[in-house]
Order: sequence, then structure tokens, then C-alpha cells
Amino acid sequence: MSYVDEIIEAVVAKNPSEPEFHQAVKEVLNSLRPVVDANEEKYRKEALLERLVEPERQIKFRVPWVDDKGRVQVNTGYRVQFNSAIGPYKGGLRLHPSVNLGIIKFLGFEQIFKNSLTGLPIGGGKGGSDFDPKGKSDREVMAFCQSFMTELCKYIGENTDVPAGDIGTGAREIGYLYGQYKRITGRYEGVLTGKGLSYGGSLARTEATGYGLLYLTQEMLKMNGIDIAGKTAAVSGSGNVAIYAIQKAQQLGVKVLTCSDSNGWVYDPEGIDVAALKEIKEVRRARLTEYKNYRPNSEYHEGRGVWTVKVDLALPCATQNELHLEDAKALAANGVIAVAEGANMPTTMEATEYLQEQGILFAPGKAANAGGVATSALEMSQNSERLSWTFDEVDAKLQGIMVNICHNMADAAERYGFAKNYVAGANIAGFEKVVDAMLAQGVV
Ligand code: NDP
Repeated sequence: MSYVDEIIEAVVAKNPSEPEFHQAVKEVLNSLRPVVDANEEKYRKEALLERLVEPERQIKFRVPWVDDKGRVQVNTGYRVQFNSAIGPYKGGLRLHPSVNLGIIKFLGFEQIFKNSLTGLPIGGGKGGSDFDPKGKSDREVMAFCQSFMTELCKYIGENTDVPAGDIGTGAREIGYLYGQYKRITGRYEGVLTGKGLSYGGSLARTEATGYGLLYLTQEMLKMNGIDIAGKTAAVSGSGNVAIYAIQKAQQLGVKVLTCSDSNGWVYDPEGIDVAALKEIKEVRRARLTEYKNYRPNSEYHEGRGVWTVKVDLALPCATQNELHLEDAKALAANGVIAVAEGANMPTTMEATEYLQEQGILFAPGKAANAGGVATSALEMSQNSERLSWTFDEVDAKLQGIMVNICHNMADAAERYGFAKNYVAGANIAGFEKVVDAMLAQGVV
């Protein structure tokens, strides 16, 4: 049995009931086969893959807090510090009822390669809780965040582990978490990113993941002789990534026809109204059923359906495994040119393979959504320097990083004989730097 197959088998056996983690490991290791095969003896001797798939540390803790009725609620908190070979652990905190250890491990594992791809010195980690901020009062969210940070603060720091936002963790949650960290430790340091502008945040961090997705998509199309202007797009989700992806798409001349939340989806033939979407989601924290009040010509549908619309570009920006094989078939039948992942692992493995077989350009999340973490690293730099860069400075750096990532993934794919297979290219490019650092640092 090959080294890769042995490791995949061992991961599944050792981590039962973590299907998303298995999926992420399989996706990454399968595309690394040529690199691993070429170095098998050395990697086996160093147990390199065994070390790569085992987090350096995983922390699981109780998060008790009191709700508005005076009842004690208990959630579970997680922080998985996966790999610090190239820098301090870096990765978001997800607050969603679906969170469990397997989800956090899949995200942390992906984060290692994504962070490496940015070219910045950041290792991979991820955390979160099964707490659901939806429907909670501000006071309840604060009570949860304070309790969560009371435990988490023992394990993080500006030079050790720097968490950020993710699903359910936006500006409000980061503010409460930061306040509690500062109160307990007495330190005013860049321990979290995604902070508000008045207390160490970076301009353009809010926009970064969505904008970065479009910068990379634009470059990928350009490399293939296609102009992004004038194209149509389907976007899923209506959170941080989706909103700013739609905004940048429109700035680049793309008409975005859809968006969604976990209840339903919107089709707007005139193009999604970003101002309305921001008001519904960012200000009023309401549901997409409200969108029709702003745009009478739009349609709201319950359930899933974003990928049935005929578009040139598909940009999944909601959550993992939201684009299935039948969706990929519908997109292909409608002539889609490219799929670029704003969310983490939104496309199932079968759907990804199908899209690639059809010759549809496919940019994996670890490359396409790396703009968020890249800008978080820029926030860390500004915090260390006690400086704030302008929006245009940060945005220009973000663009440069995304264009570089795009070329690095394409070049790595080409070097190993997988031209245009950007999944393989992104995994290989991210892996090379991490492995080099791991081997140099000895058995740790
Ligand atoms: P938000 O919480 O801001 O938005 C998430 C969106 O996805 C919401 O519209 C939400 O709908 C929808 N959604 C969440 N879970 C589900 C589900 N199970 N089924 C259907 N829809 C769902 O999160 P972000 O925009 O920050 O994150 C979106 C994705 O992008 C995630 O995969 C995240 O890991 C990834 N990502 C985020 C980065 C960032 O900087 N924020 C960076 C890199 C990746 P509803 O409101 O109904 O829950």
C-alpha cells in the first residue's frame, strides 16, 4: 500500500465520526501523491505525514454562561492548534450549532496549507463552539464570549496563536472576545484579528475574503484568456464573505444574480442590491425573506437552488459541502466557466472531480478565500508596528497576494504535470513550504 493510502486509512481508523476531517485529509493527500512518491523514503523515515495529520495540540473546554432568563447554558469550546512550522497558529473561531471537533480539525488542517500559500509567516489553527449567536441578545452573546475567552486566553497570544472571525463570529463577537482577553491578561496586543478600527483593526479586513475571492477569480480567468467583465455569477451565502464578494464582483462588471441563507435563496434578475443585503444582514440581522421588500422584481425561494440558475461563474460562499454532484451537473449543463470557493470546502469531492473532468476552471477555497487570513496577517503586522495603513495600501497588498497565489498554484500544478488542476497546485504549493520547515526543525 502506498504511504498516502496508509495514512488515509490510519486517519479514518484513529478519528472515527469525523467525516469532514477525513474528507479534507483525503483531498489534500490524494493530490500530493506525486510529491510524496518522489520523496517517500525520506518522508517515511521522518514520519512526516503522520505528524502532518496529527494536530500539535487540541483544546476542548466547557463554556458556561447565563441567558436572559437567568438560566445557565453550557456550550463546548474548541481550539485546535494544528501546525506551527512556519509561524504562530492562525485561523478563525466558528460559532455555529454544527461545530464539533471533526469540523474544527478539517478547518484547521486546510488552514495550514492556505496560510502557507499566502506567503506570510502564519501556521494553521482553528477554533469555535456549538454556540449559536442567531436569536441571542447582545448581552447573551457577550456573556458567552466572555466565558469562552476566560478559558481560551490561557492558550493564545500575539506570538503563539492569533484567532479571527469565521461563521457566526463577526465584529461584535471579536469585540467582546478582545475586551475579555485584555481584562484578564492586562495586555493590549494583537491577539485577535478582525478587530474594530478604533482598537487595532485593519482597514479592508472586513472586505478581504470576498474581495480576495474576486481578485483570484479575475486572475484565473485572465490566465485562461477570459475577461471577467460582463459575466454573470451565482453566489451562495449572505454573510461576510458573500456580501463583499458580491460587491467586488459588481465593481469588476459582473452581474450577481443570487444569494442565500440557511433557509432559502434569492434570485434578482437585475443583480443583487448590496446596500439592501447589508442592511438586512449586517444591520438588522434579519432573514432573506425581507429582500423582496427592497426589490419587488426579485424572487425568494425556500430551500436550496442557487446552482440551478444559468451563470458564467459560481461562487459558493456559505459553508462546507453545499455544492453537490447534482449541482455541479446543473452548472455544467448551463455552461458555467469557473467555480471559485469563497467558503471552506463548499464543493463535495465528487462535485469537484466532475467539474474538473468537464474542463471547468476550479479554484479551491484554500487559495480562493485566503485573502481573509492574508489580511489578518497584515493586521498583525500593523499591530506590531503600532501603525495603521490606508484602505488602498491594504487593498493593494491583498490584490498582490491573491495574484501571487493564483500563479503559485498554477505553476505548482504545471511542474507536477497537472496543468490547470488548481486543487493539486494549491495543495502542492502550500505543502512544499510547510514540509521544508518541518524537516528543518527536526522531530517536534
Ligand atoms: P457568516 O456567518 O458571515 O455567513 C455565513 C453564511 O452562510 C450565512 O449566509 C449563513 O446563513 C450561511 N450558512 C451558514 N451555515 C449554513 C448551513 N449549514 N447551510 C446553509 N447556509 C449556511 O460567515 P462567513 O461569511 O464569514 O463565512 C462563510 C464561509 O467562508 C465559511 O465556510 C468560512 O469558513 C469561510 N471563510 C470565511 C472567512 C472570513 O474572513 N470570514 C475567511 C475564509 C473562509 P444563515 O445566516 O442562515 O446562518
